[in-house]
Amino acid sequence: MSSRTDEAMIGVIAKSDQAAAVEEFFQLFKTPWEFYQPGRTYDVVVVTSDDVPEVDARLLVIYGANLRTIDARIGVAARARRRGGSLTYRSSQLPVYGELLTFEERDAAILRVSTTAEAAGLRIHGANITVMRLGYDLFDEVCYLLSTGQPPDNAHIPTLDVHITMLREWIVGAEITLLEIPAAPAGYSFAVSLTHDIDFGGMRSHLFDHTMWGFLYRSTIGAVRNLLRGRLSMSRLFQSWRAAASLPFVFVGWAKDFWEPFDWYLTVERNLPATYFVIPFKGRPGDKVAVPHPSRRAAAYDLADLAAGTTRLLREGCELAVHGIDAWHSVERGQEELKRVAGVNGKASIGIRMHWLLFDQKTFRVLEEAGFAYDSTVGYNETVGYRSGTTQVFRPLGARALLELPVHIQDGALFYPERLDLSESEAWKRCSSLIDHARECGGVLTTLWHDRSPGPERFWDNFYLRLVEALRLLDAWFATAGQVVGWFRKRREVSFERVEGSDGAAQTRLRYHGEEILPPLTVRVHRSSSTFVDIPWNGGTAIDVLRSAAPAATVVGSSL
Ligand SMILES: [Zn+2]
Repeated sequence: MSSRTDEAMIGVIAKSDQAAAVEEFFQLFKTPWEFYQPGRTYDVVVVTSDDVPEVDARLLVIYGANLRTIDARIGVAARARRRGGSLTYRSSQLPVYGELLTFEERDAAILRVSTTAEAAGLRIHGANITVMRLGYDLFDEVCYLLSTGQPPDNAHIPTLDVHITMLREWIVGAEITLLEIPAAPAGYSFAVSLTHDIDFGGMRSHLFDHTMWGFLYRSTIGAVRNLLRGRLSMSRLFQSWRAAASLPFVFVGWAKDFWEPFDWYLTVERNLPATYFVIPFKGRPGDKVAVPHPSRRAAAYDLADLAAGTTRLLREGCELAVHGIDAWHSVERGQEELKRVAGVNGKASIGIRMHWLLFDQKTFRVLEEAGFAYDSTVGYNETVGYRSGTTQVFRPLGARALLELPVHIQDGALFYPERLDLSESEAWKRCSSLIDHARECGGVLTTLWHDRSPGPERFWDNFYLRLVEALRLLDAWFATAGQVVGWFRKRREVSFERVEGSDGAAQTRLRYHGEEILPPLTVRVHRSSSTFVDIPWNGGTAIDVLRSAAPAATVVGSSL
């Protein structure tokens, strides 16, 4: 089916090696665009190439650290050039990772270097055109974010989402009607994907191994230290000691296994579908593990030992996915790992997250070739936030079908003494700012809580409970990792095409040929910087973009 509108089409003139980054950027900022074609008229032209042609547009956005011939003509002069920097846009921070050019001061600096206040972005008003001149290359930044990713120090900044916000604000600020499909289902502000990595599979599998001795130490001496640091209550200290004392009875089966992985989560997450990443093979540490103590990476449980639990999870609407060992570097091993978990959950479409979050530049191609539908490894072990600078599901550069569900909040990163080592109130502040951003920009908030985290000696249960209850109160769409990725995949499949209207004016047509989109997408028409109209669209029926509410953006639906 298709629909058409008569709002802005963006023409993009990029460097020849930036096509993939451009395409991915406009999958995230889902708005009509095309590579610039001479002779066509555009309301907005975005340029990163060195040559800026004469364009007939209302808004020209020029990105790049090289001076262009047009700069002299519009009165832009260079001040200094450097590699990387931290900029301030309104109240947002914006790290730049590539080359950065600052400009001689003019009346309309819109973006400044945070430390020196030098102008790094200018707005220049011409007679019929507004020019935005930015001292960095947008698509080089996108490429960096989606491949290398942000250093942990900048994890808290949703850099890629800020880039999208800026471009959107400049377009609607120039009073250009803009159509987009926001990154959240109709009726929701954002999605939530609750996930769990099953690393341990219960205490019972750990008789006399490194994990058991570590637990004994941390639940006794470590617990006293945590009491003294104010991180553990007296009652939790006694609970720790009781758990340690109960160990022999746990191993012989007379006492409850306090690391039983599923019961607690199923209670706390009642009616919320979660995704459990399970290790497919027992006793395999994996190859090419270039971090200390690689042997500790081997799982002590076999998937078959968890059969009662995994059956129950599937009955409750949860998802089982692969917690990969060798899939990140070997197609053949990946296929083996996929097959083992597919045998348990009976699904054709399976996702993966690598154990210990191992990956390299080739991982996405390897996973795709092995047959995985999505990956959810891109995140941090040492902190929380946005490695790729976004809340959105994206396609890693170089992949064809595989999508990435980024991980944002991880229990161990928040609380381990050798990681962020936060108190609960400090951790709450970090999580709140991530939630606030998701509510504002959409996308998905992905949480990762490990199987043994609610029990002794970690006791990260109350914090998680509070987090889930807080999220329940918001207008979030809770879905499994696979469902969230599926929704974003359908959003990606919507395309915009430019057609000539009966009056000769350029119009945009929405195309989608897949299954019904549930929950529906939102087609949003920005009429000005302060008003927009939202129309829910499930991709299957013709829509008329509220003629009455948005007369300048009439969408006529027609079945193809
Ligand atoms: Zn793991």
